[in-house]
Amino acid sequence: MAEPVGLNKEMVEVRTLCDAKGFSSDMGEIWQKLALIHTEVSEATDAYKKGEPLEKVGEELIDAVIRILHLLSVLNLDAEALYQAKMAKNWARPYKYNTVRGG
Ligand SMILES: [Mg+2]
Repeated sequence: MAEPVGLNKEMVEVRTLCDAKGFSSDMGEIWQKLALIHTEVSEATDAYKKGEPLEKVGEELIDAVIRILHLLSVLNLDAEALYQAKMAKNWARPYKYNTVRGG
């Protein structure tokens, strides 16, 4: 069980909500959960493209965050530890991560 700090607090809340609202946390549905994260990013893209208020774009991005936290919970991972480790790794990388054509 991940220590209830940082992102793990939100992950526990998301998992509690998903359980309470009847959403599956079945390990056999990982592919579906990954695909559903994509759908939220697509919804944000569509909202931005259509000129909807930025709050709507943000709402869809938060949907993606919620789905990611749910999946991390299903996988029994420590979201906060992963976040901290990845940020430390990113801070150690060079400017623009040495990409030439990337954003
Ligand atoms: Mg959505």
